Amino acid sequence: MLNRENTGYIMPKDWWRCSVCGYVYKPEIGDAVSKIHSGTLFEEIPNTWVCPVCFAEKKMFFKFNTSKKR
Ligand SMILES: [Zn+2]
Repeated sequence: MLNRENTGYIMPKDWWRCSVCGYVYKPEIGDAVSKIHSGTLFEEIPNTWVCPVCFAEKKMFFKFNTSKKR
């Protein structure tokens, strides 16, 4: 696994996890079900968007960062 933390290149690596069903929204993939294009940040998704698996609202999602841990 490569470690690119020191390159200064910022990747949109914030993934969001549904607290209800565990579905993970990945910006690099998007959500084909709701026609969310790949590369779309979670913050850019319309508030009307819901979890494609269990239909939970956006506020039910928690962000977790895959590149660094607090
Ligand atoms: Zn869900």
